[in-house]
Amino acid sequence: MAVDLLTFGCRLNIAESEAMKKAAESAGHRHLAIVNTCAVTGEAVRQARQAIRRLKREHPETRIVVTGCAAQIDPNMFAAMPEVDRVIGNEEKAQATTWASLRDPHLDTERIRVNDIMAVRESAPHFAEHFEGRTRAFVQVQNGCDHRCTFCIIPFGRGNSRSVPMGVVVTQISELAQDYAEIVLTGVDVTSWGADLPGAPKLGTLIKTILKHVPELKRLRLSSIDSVEIDADLMDVIVAEPRFMPHLHLSLQAGDDLILKRMKRRHARQDAIDLCQTLRNERPDIVFGADIIAGFPTEDEDMFRRSLDLVEECDIAFLHVFPYSPRPGTPAAKMPQVSRTLVKERAARLRDKGAETYARNLARQCGRTHSILVERDSTGRTETFFPVKFSEPPDAGALVKRMITMQDGHFLAG
Ligand code: SF4
Repeated sequence: MAVDLLTFGCRLNIAESEAMKKAAESAGHRHLAIVNTCAVTGEAVRQARQAIRRLKREHPETRIVVTGCAAQIDPNMFAAMPEVDRVIGNEEKAQATTWASLRDPHLDTERIRVNDIMAVRESAPHFAEHFEGRTRAFVQVQNGCDHRCTFCIIPFGRGNSRSVPMGVVVTQISELAQDYAEIVLTGVDVTSWGADLPGAPKLGTLIKTILKHVPELKRLRLSSIDSVEIDADLMDVIVAEPRFMPHLHLSLQAGDDLILKRMKRRHARQDAIDLCQTLRNERPDIVFGADIIAGFPTEDEDMFRRSLDLVEECDIAFLHVFPYSPRPGTPAAKMPQVSRTLVKERAARLRDKGAETYARNLARQCGRTHSILVERDSTGRTETFFPVKFSEPPDAGALVKRMITMQDGHFLAG
């Protein structure tokens, strides 16, 4: 085994893991495992620790390097694990020199290499040419976040927002578009792209430039966006550009305005509803996903009901439910907490609602022709991101058109 990857969390972590694997292999590492952790919930951290213990038990000869947001925020916790050899910060992991120095006994002297992520000003883009076992490529355009939502630990793992320069992104995408039919733009707070660059260009400008300068790019998708930070150019692209996928994953978090205020979010409930309605009027096939937290501190039954109703009013197809998890050091962790039992019960009710709206949106895909990106396991994804199961799977990575007539409650039949 050359270099093995364990990736937790977001699409940005997926992109970074592939780039680290490339750097570690070029540096000549063997019998190395890179664990790229996530800190969004206590559960994500627990799973990473469990996976590290299992990995060492099953592969005692493996050298384990832990990185990612959980390692950036609490390096000592991972360094204290006997299974762990090195702990690397989120900025250090992006540098090829880090992986080279881990092979040099003269340089590889510190068990922990984690610097102050808040001091980082430049975005060191992680670029990978190859995405193991995947038919879409992930391109990081932005890192870190300047917002401070009261429940969120991410800025402490990723630092402040910093953008990858437009030219670098366009070059990367024109290379990847040779091999990948679909590219997903990722980041922590993607809509803040450009704010730190000369002239403060907007995300919409970046996307228009990509689509103009990479005509061979077939499909462009956004990982997730903040619903109130869509600029005019981005709105143009969403409603009118066929190569921009009609699927937006919105960071909604809650459906009650007082809770949104206590979360320090920048939108009100009605903003989310209006946005979904406007986009649906302009591009009727558009589909929405959303992140919503269940059981945020001080949330009562009426407030929670407004989150449930929001899923209905925005007709969210892909609902990601996060049972509130107090993160040490965040303001929300100091607020009056909702009981764990209630958090779990509300999360289950939200998931039920999400399953309902998913089924409704899935059924709506039938009777139409879809362009489908074929994946490796005889399935595929439509432009609207619905999964398709093929009876006779075409080649992985191919884009095929299919009139969809049937669905089984989860998959469309292709
Ligand atoms: S916008 Fe808020 S939730 Fe998103 S990463 Fe930044 S602080 Fe966290």
